[in-house]
Amino acid sequence: MARLTTRRTALALYSLLLVVPTLVLGGLLWFQLAGDHRAERQQVPALASTAARRMQDGLTARFDELLARENERSFMVYRDFVYPEDLVGSDVAFLPSPLTRGLPPEGILSWFSFDISQGIGAEFSIFAGEHKQLPDSKTLANKLKRSVQELIVHDVQEGFQKRITRYGGLHISSVPLSLAVINFSHERDHSCLRAQLPSLRRLDDEAVDVHRYSFHVRFYRGADGTPRVVATRVILIDKVELLRGMPTCYSNLAEGALIHQGFFIDPEWLFGALPEEVAKQSLRQPEAFHPQGAALVESGETLVHTLYPVELLEIEVERPRDAEYGRFQISLSSAALRARQASQNWRLVAVACMLLLSLATGMVLLLRSVAVELEQARRTEDFVAAVTHELRTPIATIRLHGEMLRDGWVTTDNKRDEYHGRIVDETQRLEAMVERVLEKSRLSSSPPNPEPGDLNEVLRVLMSEEIAARDGVQLELAEGLGAVLMNRDGLRSIVTNLLENARKYGSREDGPREATLLCTCTRDGQPCLEVLDRGPGIPDRDKQRIFEAFFRRSDATTRGERGTGLGLHLVKIQAQAMDGDAQVLDRPGGGSIFRVTLRRADTAKS
Ligand code: ADP
Repeated sequence: MARLTTRRTALALYSLLLVVPTLVLGGLLWFQLAGDHRAERQQVPALASTAARRMQDGLTARFDELLARENERSFMVYRDFVYPEDLVGSDVAFLPSPLTRGLPPEGILSWFSFDISQGIGAEFSIFAGEHKQLPDSKTLANKLKRSVQELIVHDVQEGFQKRITRYGGLHISSVPLSLAVINFSHERDHSCLRAQLPSLRRLDDEAVDVHRYSFHVRFYRGADGTPRVVATRVILIDKVELLRGMPTCYSNLAEGALIHQGFFIDPEWLFGALPEEVAKQSLRQPEAFHPQGAALVESGETLVHTLYPVELLEIEVERPRDAEYGRFQISLSSAALRARQASQNWRLVAVACMLLLSLATGMVLLLRSVAVELEQARRTEDFVAAVTHELRTPIATIRLHGEMLRDGWVTTDNKRDEYHGRIVDETQRLEAMVERVLEKSRLSSSPPNPEPGDLNEVLRVLMSEEIAARDGVQLELAEGLGAVLMNRDGLRSIVTNLLENARKYGSREDGPREATLLCTCTRDGQPCLEVLDRGPGIPDRDKQRIFEAFFRRSDATTRGERGTGLGLHLVKIQAQAMDGDAQVLDRPGGGSIFRVTLRRADTAKS
């Protein structure tokens, strides 16, 4: 028993060791999560400004990238055909400018160039890559033309001196004079340039300084109110006296040049697609982007940051209110944050519940299997104790009577016969008990497999053997039982024990003698074997217990009869070994019905 208790304690300890750390860890995680959530909620304003800063940085980086790329572009490509630098000295070979090939990079509508020193009527060139080939290229070209004309008017009116103060990043480079002469020539006719080429030979070793400012971006409204974003730079070349007297197609630099180069930025890209793209890359839930035109109002739960791209990207504006153009907003809703936190909490709870459920299921399964084992161990212990106890009584009786006979205490022949008789009785009882214990042990270790057979036939054979020779047993066999699952030795044991009991307890002294009935029948579709007697019957409280090992009732009927208390127990376990069961019922009119229910072969469990 001590061992069983230890096993139970070990199991309880094991459960404790599994469940307690799980609960503690779960609790710690919960507190940690709650703390994190609190901190996160307190940080909402800071989080909103970080989001706005990320957005701002992303936008600036993309814009600066565009300007840097254009700044690097050679100032000599702003014409239809370019005389490439590496061809200096060779025949004039013009290549189409990169500004006329392919589609302009994302965000750029077109490039242009004009010599502002020529005043409002200055000639200008526009390049829009292959936009020219688009179906609506005429409209587009007209629009661009108008834009450049507007720009020229504006810049001329503003005055070069005033405008140049706004440019930064002056860069001076020395360019071979012959290259500058060709690439800055106003002459569009290549044949003239080619024809006059020999006159350039004497300039081969000469160079000219070209002043180039970085691109400066401004926002203004066109005549019809259309928003325009334009980046311009100034290219300044001083007068080159050497060129005086050169053929006209090469001589315009003699007076120097003040060229404006630039490009139009697509406002729809700058204030629409670009912020949207940057938002996708730099914002994360629950930060939200609201494009221009979708103005939000800050409320209790929603923090709003408004960003002004014109200001942010240091774009020059003419009218102060244009600085607000294209503004967009970043919002951070603490409600969305709370919802996210709640979903995290629920996830944790769900995981914890699953863990606890699986732990509990595991524990229940473990407890059940241990309980079954413990029950089996207890039964074995009880059985061994009972057998030992039951063996002691006959052994003591045999020993006592044997010693009395040996020591000459028995003087009369009658007494001696009686003592011998008792020794033989007790020995038979011992033998029966040992047989039954062995039978029980055989059944539990290797129960025989029941096989289909004819129940009536088996009973007929048993009745014809010596047990059936006993008087007072009447056989009544029902027809149509079909094949029954059984084993012959088991049935023999069942019938022997039941008839033995009927003989011992199955008649009342006061009542009429009536034959014991051994019959077969069908109950609930299953074949049965019944033994009916007219004995005192079994009270309800003992109807289950009489099938336990070593249980003997202690009323007057039983007291006079010898027994081991194993007979009905064997009946039960033999029946169970045949996939059946045994029970006792009250017989109408007095007595008991011992019913062994068997199983029809065609309903056997597979
Ligand atoms: P045993 O007969 O060796 O005592 P059993 O297991 O066969 O053991 O029976 C257990 C007890 O059930 C008996 O002691 C008896 O009290 C009771 N019993 C068994 N059969 C009958 C019966 N036919 N009528 C009344 N009581 C019975």
